[in-house]
Amino acid sequence: MKKTETKSTVLLQHHLKALRLPTIAAECEAIAARCATDNVDHLGFLLQLCERELLDRERRAADRRLKAAKFPTLKTLDDFDFAAQPSLNRVLVAELLRGEFVDRRESVILVGNPGTGKTHVATALAAQACRRGKKVRFYRVTELVTQLLEAREERLLLRLKGQLSRLDLLVLDELGYVPASKTGAELLFDVISTAYERTSVVITTNLPFEQWTEVLGSERLVGATLDRLTHRCHILEATGESYRLRDAKRRAGRAVRREPADSDDT
Ligand code: ADP
Ligand code: MG
Repeated sequence: MKKTETKSTVLLQHHLKALRLPTIAAECEAIAARCATDNVDHLGFLLQLCERELLDRERRAADRRLKAAKFPTLKTLDDFDFAAQPSLNRVLVAELLRGEFVDRRESVILVGNPGTGKTHVATALAAQACRRGKKVRFYRVTELVTQLLEAREERLLLRLKGQLSRLDLLVLDELGYVPASKTGAELLFDVISTAYERTSVVITTNLPFEQWTEVLGSERLVGATLDRLTHRCHILEATGESYRLRDAKRRAGRAVRREPADSDDT
């Protein structure tokens, strides 16, 4: 390589770093070589560089959003077995995965017994929203209530509520136990009310609707919150049995079936 070329390469790398274009910096030489052999003109070369940088930038931003969402474990619908949960409305899940409900600020409520895949589906929907550029935060309800109470103690409640109001989608996992204190319940229902028509909310719960007011309290505050929450919402019900239990039973069944064969061998 000639000395001038080396100097311009070094300078180019420096400028690309200053301009924060890491993908172009990493790939420009290889792409330049390829474009030269393929007879791609200068603008075509520039286009390829910009496309690579943009794609990478979007991927990095999606990764950051997924991290900021704090999902307990990342789940996708690819590893969800719909056949194991036939009661779940598969068509509606596929529609929700497209994410328009987030643009429309609608809510999703997943109701069902423990182990029926509610958290799995809620996480998969919310993670897809992250990949589509939405700001998401996953909370277990008890965790959010604790944070709200602590923030209130430390006079940081406005700040926390400000952070929540900047989200596109708020996941509240495991609504169903009475919050430990009346203040906790009030703070939680205030968050849900504030989200109305501004932020989408995905809630998972094992409480059938008819028990909501009975368990969560039937005071005016709770009533009004639930009214808002259920105004524009999609309901997904999983009435089947627990996936893990089913899995365990199937494994146990296999073991039992194998036993006579094993004893035949002896
Ligand atoms: P829930 O929130 O309803 O209690 P989870 O979503 O936590 O249930 O599911 C429990 C475990 O079983 C998780 O590891 C989840 O990934 C898995 N699971 C549940 N349902 C299915 C399913 N239909 N296909 C694949 N995995 C499932
Ligand atoms: Mg769950």
